[in-house]
Amino acid sequence: DDVLLEIEDLRTHFLLDDGVVCAVDGVDLRVRKGETLAIVGESGCGKSVMARSILRLVDPPGQIEGGKITLHRESGPVELVGADRKLLRQIRWNDIAMVFQEPMASLSLVHTIGSQIVEAVRLHENVGKAAARNRAIEMLDRVGIPMPQRRVDAYPFELSGGMRQRAMIAMALACRPSLLIADEPTTALDVTTQAQILELLRDLQDEFGMAIMLITHDLGVAAQVADSMAVMYLGRVVEYGGAEQVLAEPRHPYTKALLRSMPRLGRAARTRLTAIKGMVPPPYARPEGCAFHPRCDAVMAGRCDTVLPRRVPLREPVGDREVTCLLYEEES
Ligand code: SF4
Ligand code: MG
Repeated sequence: DDVLLEIEDLRTHFLLDDGVVCAVDGVDLRVRKGETLAIVGESGCGKSVMARSILRLVDPPGQIEGGKITLHRESGPVELVGADRKLLRQIRWNDIAMVFQEPMASLSLVHTIGSQIVEAVRLHENVGKAAARNRAIEMLDRVGIPMPQRRVDAYPFELSGGMRQRAMIAMALACRPSLLIADEPTTALDVTTQAQILELLRDLQDEFGMAIMLITHDLGVAAQVADSMAVMYLGRVVEYGGAEQVLAEPRHPYTKALLRSMPRLGRAARTRLTAIKGMVPPPYARPEGCAFHPRCDAVMAGRCDTVLPRRVPLREPVGDREVTCLLYEEES
């Protein structure tokens, strides 16, 4: 059907001296062609590690322990977990591109913006230098960088934070990927620039038709652009569904708590903001049973602290919904 990327039971672990950290602990997700899927949750919930696992960009001692990641290309499906470096290099930029919170993390400091885009394009397409340079200028123009003919020869440090993020997006989209993974792309930016970048991403998605996996701790950002939403807590997806539906009728106690802690969202502005009690425990201290139980206001004593909840599909008026919570296992 219309599934572009399918993640099944993904596990990414970090082998540390004092034990194994299960940063991603059995994630199932799918991204549909052309949609925006937001991955939300507090920091430390495994969102970034999950996303980086897709292109195998997890730094050691992190490693993928198991699972399947299937990318449905026009030429057929490819398995990414078992893929060799060569295939991954072909897929990166060309099929899947990634932008990060800090563009300096992926832009080289010693090369001009233009030469980096030219290199990415020529790695994947049989085009000459001049044509690739024209593509770079065209892309810089398209992402709203003024005077692209001049900026193409600028170094990253010569641009402002917002312009650098635009340049990173230009580079990411230069090879027309079918999936853009954006990890907190606007978090380092001021509110106005943040809104402009989100609008740019939406426009580019309309134009190029790529899917976006947007990783954000900010439900407000997710609400502005997401079609679907997956809420992660300690390495697992606890709720999945249509973004509007999840925001309007959250089912998982963690999603409900996240929404109550957000100023611009949730119910009426009259409702008081309540911080979620406690903090995300460090991943090496994952609580037994449901990992959210020490913070959950619906916790069932003697159950939630011993039984690991499984994913339950819910019958909802609109769209699919899946929740990982013992409250719903009784119902189904
Ligand atoms: Fe809360 Fe129990 Fe559901 Fe976990 S399983 S979210 S502790 S009610
Ligand atoms: Mg992160």
